[in-house]
Amino acid sequence: MPTYQAPLEDYKFIIEDVLDTYSCYADIPQFSGVNSEFMDSILAEAGRFAEQEIQPLNQAGDLEGCRIENGEVFTPKGYKEVSKKYIDGGWTQLSESPQYGGQGLPYILNGAIGEMNLSACAAFAIYSTRDGSIAAIEKNASQEIKDKYLPKLVEGAWGGPMCMSEPHCGSDLGLLRTKAIAQSDGSFVISGTKMFITGGDSDLSENNIMLVLARTEGAPQGIKGISLFIVPKFLVNDDGSLGQRNNTHVGSIEHKMGLHGSATCVMNYDQAKGFLIGKENKGMTAMFAMVNRSRFLIAQQGTALAAVAYQNAAKYALERTQMRALTGAKNPEQAADPIIVHPDVRRLLLTQRAFVEGSRALNLYVAKLFDELEYSTNPTRKKQCQSLLDLLTPICKGFSTEMGWECVNHGLQVFGGHGYIRKMAWSNLCVTPVPRPFMKAPQAFRRWIC
Ligand SMILES: Cc1cc2nc3c(=O)[nH]c(=O)nc-3n(C[C@H](O)[C@H](O)[C@H](O)COP(=O)(O)OP(=O)(O)OC[C@H]3O[C@@H](n4cnc5c(N)ncnc54)[C@H](O)[C@@H]3O)c2cc1C
Repeated sequence: MPTYQAPLEDYKFIIEDVLDTYSCYADIPQFSGVNSEFMDSILAEAGRFAEQEIQPLNQAGDLEGCRIENGEVFTPKGYKEVSKKYIDGGWTQLSESPQYGGQGLPYILNGAIGEMNLSACAAFAIYSTRDGSIAAIEKNASQEIKDKYLPKLVEGAWGGPMCMSEPHCGSDLGLLRTKAIAQSDGSFVISGTKMFITGGDSDLSENNIMLVLARTEGAPQGIKGISLFIVPKFLVNDDGSLGQRNNTHVGSIEHKMGLHGSATCVMNYDQAKGFLIGKENKGMTAMFAMVNRSRFLIAQQGTALAAVAYQNAAKYALERTQMRALTGAKNPEQAADPIIVHPDVRRLLLTQRAFVEGSRALNLYVAKLFDELEYSTNPTRKKQCQSLLDLLTPICKGFSTEMGWECVNHGLQVFGGHGYIRKMAWSNLCVTPVPRPFMKAPQAFRRWIC
C-alpha cells in the first residue's frame, strides 16, 4: 500500500536550528505561547492528516478528475469528505486573524503544512488555501466587507478564487477587458470572461467569493485602469445568510495534462453584482497581497512535488537491482546490485535532495518573514522584512518551480522505463519510508549513498 511520509524532522531542523524561529518571534507578543513542543504537536497532526487523509485522494483525482453538470462543478470521489474533515479540524484558520475567527498562529506553520498537503495531493491541496484572498480583503476592503466575508472564508466554508487571467491576457494584465459599471447603490455590474481560474467553482464550498479584476467605465488604458471587486457566487444578506444566486457561471473546465482533480475553470460574468475592494484603478496594488501569497503557494508546490518525487525515487533506487557497482559486487548474494550504487543514479538523487532541503528552507524563511512583517513590534525590522519579501517572493517562486520540474525529471530518470507507465506514474506520488536528511538517513540508504 503506497504512502507519503511527512518530513517532520526536516521542518523541526529548519524552524529551530537553521532559522532560530522562536528567538525571532521573541518581540511578537501574539506568539508568546509558541514553542517547540507546541509546533511539533501541530505539525505531527498535520503530517498525519496529509499522509492518511489527503494522500489517498490522488488516485480518484487522476483517474476520475472533476466534472461539470448543469453548470455545477463536482470534484472527484472523496474530496468532499476530506475537505469537510480539513475544515472541521480548523486547518484553514491556523494563521488567520482571531478577529475573524482565526487562531492567530505563525504563518510558518502554513509554510510547512502547505508543503505537506501539496506533496500528499497537489490537486486537493490547492482548494484548501484561502489565505491569499483573505489577505487581499483584510488589507484593502472596508470594515463592512471584512465583517461580511472574512469569517466564512477563515472558517473554510466559502472558497476564495483569484480571477485575473482572461483568454487574451495572462502575463499582461493591462490588456484585460472585463467591465465594471457603477450602480447607484454603490455596487458594480461585472461583465466579462476569465479563464484558468483555479477552483472557480466546486462542490467543496457553500459559496465562492471571487476576487475579480475589472475595468470601470472611463478607466485609463493598461495596468493603471484596473480595479478589484468581490463577486460572490451567492449574494450575502446583511445577516450573513446566503441570498440570491449571482450571474456567475462556469463555462467549462480545462482539460489539463495533469492535476485533473483541480477544477481550472472558465468563468463567465453576465452582469453579475460586484463590490469594489480598495480604491478604483488601484486594483493591482490591492491584488498584490493575494498575488504574493499565491506566488508563495506555487513555490511550495515546486518544493512539494520535488520532495515526493525524491522520496519515491530514493525508495525505488534501493529496491531495483541492475548491473554491478564499479567497485565490485555490493550484493553478491543477488544477481545484481541496487541501482543506488551507480554514481549517476546517486547524482540524480543527491541533486533532488539538495534542492528539496534548500528550497524548503528558503520557503520557511519567507514564511517567517511574512510573520515578522505582520506582527513585529520593531519598525526597522518590519521595513527589512518588506524589502526581503519584495526580493525573495518572486525568486522563491521562480527557483522552486524551475528546480522542482528538474527534480521530477530526475525522479523519472531513476525509474527508467517504469517511470513512463501509468500505474507507476500515479503510484509514484505515494511512497513508503524515505531517507531522512543525510546524517539521519536510514542504515540502508547510508550504506549505498556514502
Ligand atoms: C493550472 C493553472 C491554474 C491557474 N490558476 C489561475 C488562477 O487561479 N487565477 C488566474 O487569474 N490565473 C490562473 N492561471 C493563469 C496563469 O496565471 C497564466 O497562465 C499566466 O499568468 C501566464 O499567462 P498565459 O498562460 O496567458 O501566457 P502568456 O502571458 O501568453 O505567455 C506565454 C509565454 O510567454 C512568456 N512571456 C510573456 N511575456 C513575457 C515577457 N515580457 N518576457 C519574457 N517572457 C514572457 C510567458 O512566460 C510564457 O512562457 C492558471 C494557469 C494554469 C495553467
